[in-house]
Amino acid sequence: MYEMRAEPDRTGSLAPTWHVVSKNDSRMSLCGRQLPAPAVKITRIEEDPESTERYCSPCMTAVHTTAG
Ligand SMILES: [Zn+2]
Repeated sequence: MYEMRAEPDRTGSLAPTWHVVSKNDSRMSLCGRQLPAPAVKITRIEEDPESTERYCSPCMTAVHTTAG
């Protein structure tokens, strides 16, 4: 199983990037990025076209590849 983990954006934009982490190793995202402890409150993800949140595409690709 996987869960989503928001990484606070460090480039100046307001939007966090959502990475995917494995339940087995929640410190490392599927794209190989080390994420901070979940200090950011995870809110439910909704399909909002106006949302500025972004999803990490390497993570998404990894999920789709693994979850055949
Ligand atoms: Zn990622």
